[in-house]
Amino acid sequence: MALIVQKYGGSSLATLDRIQEVARRVSQRKKEGNDLVVVVSAMGNTTNDLLKLAQQITDQPPARELDMLLSSGERISMALLAMALHQIDVPSISFTGSQSGIVTDTSHTHAKILEIRADRIKEQLTLEKVVIVAGFQGVSTQKEVTTLGRGGSDVTAVALAVALSAKQCEFYKDVDGIYTKDPKQHIDAQKMEHCDYDRVLTLAHAGAKILHSEAVTLAKKHLMPLYIASSFTQHQGTLVEQHH
Ligand code: ASP
Ligand code: MG
Repeated sequence: MALIVQKYGGSSLATLDRIQEVARRVSQRKKEGNDLVVVVSAMGNTTNDLLKLAQQITDQPPARELDMLLSSGERISMALLAMALHQIDVPSISFTGSQSGIVTDTSHTHAKILEIRADRIKEQLTLEKVVIVAGFQGVSTQKEVTTLGRGGSDVTAVALAVALSAKQCEFYKDVDGIYTKDPKQHIDAQKMEHCDYDRVLTLAHAGAKILHSEAVTLAKKHLMPLYIASSFTQHQGTLVEQHH
């Protein structure tokens, strides 16, 4: 059975309707006969809202406590998605970054993943469960909760895909793929069905908000195929892999 890692971004999970739609999509993919690990971001603007709460107390929140606060956004979406899956009879279990065995260095708010001890995830996959993982977070070598920096759940997804030798890592967003130019600014922008990692990195460095560039670099290093599509439509997305 092929293992797929899917990642759903904040706009794809912004409301309960959206979370239920994601549950249906996950269910569909599972029924096609795949093992699934689903990485989630926080709902909508949750992370920004949490940051604003902290800033109302102090303009210099302790980094450890900021990580405790910001990591809670992804816990909300992972638990709600697990409940939505339960509701449509898809066995699933949610894990925090720490429970997923995502071990990072000790740099609060911009930690780097050092290693993934995926035993619990693997065990749940053998029990036929969809495993939902809170993106953007891990546990440090000092046993503290850490976050990976803004947009870090893309990195979580690729790191998990590599650690679990997934067939591909899929990203579901509010745009339906990668375009030759920013589709919100250029009407002649064209969606690419295929492209290579360097093209994505070039677009990202030019300011396009496609994927976290660290995630793309990691995928390139391990030749992990990436698929970018919309969670709002059934349009075909963009497959990113090395040019042959
Ligand atoms: N929720 C976090 C952020 O907004 C992580 C992510 O979405 O990737 O930065
Ligand atoms: Mg987000």
